[in-house]
Amino acid sequence: MNILERYHAMDYAPAPEARTEADAWLSARDFSKALFIAGDWRAAVDGKSFDTEDPSTGKLLAKVSDAGAADIEAAVAAARKALPKWSAASGYERAKVLYAIGRSMQRHQRLFAVLETLDNGKPIRESRDIDVPLAIRHFIHHAGWAQSLDREFPGRKAAGVVGQIIPWNFPLLMLAWKIAPALATGCTVVLKPAEFTPLTAILFAEICERAGVPKGVVNIVQGGPEAGAAIVNHAGIDKIAFTGSSEVGKIIRKATAGSGKKLSLELGGKSAFIVFEDADLDSAVEGLVDGIWFNQGQVCCAGSRLLVQESVADAFIAKVKTRMSRLRVGAPLDKNTDIGPLVDKTQLDRVRRLVEEGARQGAVCWQPDQDVPTTGYYHLPTLATGVAPANILAQEEVFGPVLATMSFRNTEEAVELANNTRYGLAASVWSENVNLALHVAPQLKAGVVWVNGTNMFDAACGFGGYRESGFGREGGREGLEEYLAPSEPHGPVIKPAAAPKAAARDNGESHGIDRTAKLFIGGKQVRPDGNYSLPVLTPKGKLAGEVGLGSRKDIRDAVSAARGCKAWPEATVYNRAQVLYYLAENLSGRTEEFAARISELTAASHKVAKAEVETSIERLFYYAGMADKFEGRVHQPPARTVTLALHEPVGVIGIVAPDEAPLLGLVSLVAPALAMGNTVVVVPSTTAPLVATDLYQVIEYSDLPAGAINIVTGHTAELAAVLAKHDDVDGLWVVAEAETCAKAEAESTGNLKRVWTGHGRGLDWPTAQGEAFLRRAVEVKNVWVPYGD
Ligand code: NAD
Repeated sequence: MNILERYHAMDYAPAPEARTEADAWLSARDFSKALFIAGDWRAAVDGKSFDTEDPSTGKLLAKVSDAGAADIEAAVAAARKALPKWSAASGYERAKVLYAIGRSMQRHQRLFAVLETLDNGKPIRESRDIDVPLAIRHFIHHAGWAQSLDREFPGRKAAGVVGQIIPWNFPLLMLAWKIAPALATGCTVVLKPAEFTPLTAILFAEICERAGVPKGVVNIVQGGPEAGAAIVNHAGIDKIAFTGSSEVGKIIRKATAGSGKKLSLELGGKSAFIVFEDADLDSAVEGLVDGIWFNQGQVCCAGSRLLVQESVADAFIAKVKTRMSRLRVGAPLDKNTDIGPLVDKTQLDRVRRLVEEGARQGAVCWQPDQDVPTTGYYHLPTLATGVAPANILAQEEVFGPVLATMSFRNTEEAVELANNTRYGLAASVWSENVNLALHVAPQLKAGVVWVNGTNMFDAACGFGGYRESGFGREGGREGLEEYLAPSEPHGPVIKPAAAPKAAARDNGESHGIDRTAKLFIGGKQVRPDGNYSLPVLTPKGKLAGEVGLGSRKDIRDAVSAARGCKAWPEATVYNRAQVLYYLAENLSGRTEEFAARISELTAASHKVAKAEVETSIERLFYYAGMADKFEGRVHQPPARTVTLALHEPVGVIGIVAPDEAPLLGLVSLVAPALAMGNTVVVVPSTTAPLVATDLYQVIEYSDLPAGAINIVTGHTAELAAVLAKHDDVDGLWVVAEAETCAKAEAESTGNLKRVWTGHGRGLDWPTAQGEAFLRRAVEVKNVWVPYGD
């Protein structure tokens, strides 16, 4: 055998990571008392348990206590009891605890990594080099936030007791993403890991005992969907933080509607991996391996849709196939293994079913010619080509090692294909031309965009999705927001509206002149679709005028006009500021007229009404000024990368404005949305809609592009429900009575739009101004740009 032949004949010898320490831990622990509640280890009250197994062999690792409703009750009570002291502790006290957790985890790094691999099946290289170090960094990073919270978020309070539910794909890392910001902000926690992967959370609870976490501050319960649902539905919980599938995310959105619980959802994805013809193809292949085969593709932000430019598609696919043939599928504890088993048999069956269905729908599914171990839940890396955009493999989250491939001709087509999904978690853009990459990044509807890279995470950089990938961010400054109580000033409880007044058919026309105020859609005054109008009465019952009675169809038209208006989101921030200044200026020219209208319809004195108009003008001025100042940030994570946290408009925002303060309430919600580049569909006050219809002329004289603001008068509750159900509305503000708010939240699950309500209360309109409103008008997109060779 010559040297070359010898070289080719060489294979990797097994290089297993030692599991002695993990086995000792497993045999020493009493898993029948695996619930960590109020600092004690408890058995489930009803004595139930579930099995957790090693997915590479199917062998039992432990029988773990399965929490029932009584255990959740106890955990919530413990967290409630611990809350006052923990949230009142100084930032320094909390920082010391977070730091101690991080340091203690560092000391047990190897044990964490081996346990994670045993329980989940992920290759040890990943748990050792990625999951565990990132989890530790999260705690240490948040120690600093705890200490600087008062300075960075003055006056803000902890959200309270938080219920946290996490998936099995990154058990320890997801726990860190949840617990670290909660502790930093002074919240107490009831966390439930996924039923497939309970082990590292149990070890983490041991660390909490040693690191001086006060009893009851962290409670970790084990169990499946029922335990999760008991957390979600518990009245003693102030906030739910969920990471998991979009399907369960929607159930949780519905279940928490009207409860007043704060909610963040980190859900599934179908992320695009876009390769332009000028990319460094070899680097892109390595990126792709990481993008889709990291953790067997069981990654929420997996680059599971490869979009490659036609001119290099064949060459690139050939390289990918060669590389796939070299991926080592095997025992996850072996340090040479690239691909381990999937987490469970049910997951394996699901992936197989999806691949079969994808093939049935016309995809060509290719796998390297390799053996897989005879035990365990292995699935070979799979490349699907010839995938039509509607193919199940292009649309559904497979959550396995399956890559769907499509090609594109030009940049526009790449963006269109990338955005052709109901998800919006992440995207990866490969090009040697940074101008092109940074031109594409803002056009992608995704919360994270990696340029010439993939799957980069850091505690300082927010992570989270658009659309059905959920809402809220984890990590960094944005992540802390999720654990702070809302800061907008509340006003009085809103009483349910009186029974709707009868609608009249074209009353005005019967006198020969149509005095009915129309709707304002796409920059034009238009008649309502049904041609009905609504009488507007003064508080004394006198007819003050009539407005159009907007319907479902009118809302649809208004949403389509708002969606079609590109000029506003694409306008420069300076231009947006100027238009808002014009609006303020034009309104100020008509102060008296508006004050008279408000007086007439609300019985406010002239003085009070005038003050409302003047504050509205001041508010428009404020948001005009903020249009170019509420900006994103730049992060410097510990990699050779800059991360641009960009503020992008949410999109089309529905605004259901209050009856109280009919002008100021409307302006307070519309102005920040417009300032940040959103387009809006407004349902104004039902009792004083003429204040809004009087604005048409002001708007027409202010250079606002057609469709940027649309106004549909009618019955608040009805129109709010239509906006909530509309899948082309991205965000919705509802200030109305409790039932309308709750309904809007419950009915928003179609596209998981963000819904903000006063939960049945108004806001304190004179002070309802500032960052709390601007934050709701933007999505934060983190664009990672690496530098250096
Ligand atoms: P899953 O939604 O089935 O379960 C997630 C968690 O929710 C588990 O702890 C489960 O026990 C619990 N649960 C299930 N039904 C529940 C219910 N009705 N009420 C309350 N809790 C319930 O998801 P999974 O299969 O464990 O995880 C995979 C999913 O997680 C994928 O869709 C993936 O994309 C997503 N994920 C998202 C992120 C992110 O940051 N966006 C990160 C990791 C995983």
